[in-house]
Amino acid sequence: MRTETQPDRFTAPRESMVASQLRGRGIADERVLAAMTRVPRHQFVSDSYHDQAYEDHPIPIGEGQTISQPYIVGITLEALALQPSDIVLEVGTGSGYQTAILAELAHHVYSIERHASLAQGAHSILASLGYDNVTVVVGDGSHGLAQSAPFDAIVVSAAAPQIPPLLIEQLSEGGRMVIPVGPAHAQELLLVRKQLSNTAVRVLEGCRFVPLIGSEGYGSDW
Ligand code: SAH
Repeated sequence: MRTETQPDRFTAPRESMVASQLRGRGIADERVLAAMTRVPRHQFVSDSYHDQAYEDHPIPIGEGQTISQPYIVGITLEALALQPSDIVLEVGTGSGYQTAILAELAHHVYSIERHASLAQGAHSILASLGYDNVTVVVGDGSHGLAQSAPFDAIVVSAAAPQIPPLLIEQLSEGGRMVIPVGPAHAQELLLVRKQLSNTAVRVLEGCRFVPLIGSEGYGSDW
């Protein structure tokens, strides 16, 4: 998995983020809380944002994109109910922060990002932190990653116009997907479960993500 880091000046802000923004708002999954206590979020943003890394908001990561707010990562990961044997697809690697937490909780993570520069940056930091169970791919993930399917869980980190049918197809029986759906200002974070070839959908939270751009996402109409 990864090498342990020594306590440093970010340890206390990270523990306080977990206590107030996650546990304090009802996230109770101890595996998720432990993973978010371990992963050094500040290392996934540029030096100039280090001091904001554990605050309660998204942060710019280049290419007009943002690292997700810790609370949104927490509710997403809790809803996915990952098992250590799970194979996961993440659409929208961004900084690689959520990828690291997925890698702590699952067996293998395939993560696809359309911006090559972000994919490269995420790959470098994930490798330097010792994650050897992550494959970062450059491309349009809005139609999934058919060659590595099926997935026990899929997490989409950018807002889609609707749930892409090709992503449901790539879920295994009993698989879970978390995906934000809706236009720029009115999205809902959905938990989709595939069971006996049916899909059950539950709304987790209102949210605001950057757009999923691609064949099953938005075009220039965002
Ligand atoms: N969880 C990430 C969030 C990144 S923001 C983090 O915490 O850093 C969402 C990312 O989705 C952006 O980097 C954006 O470039 C990417 N994205 C948008 N549409 C995509 C698509 N069709 N395929 C792959 N990545 C996409």
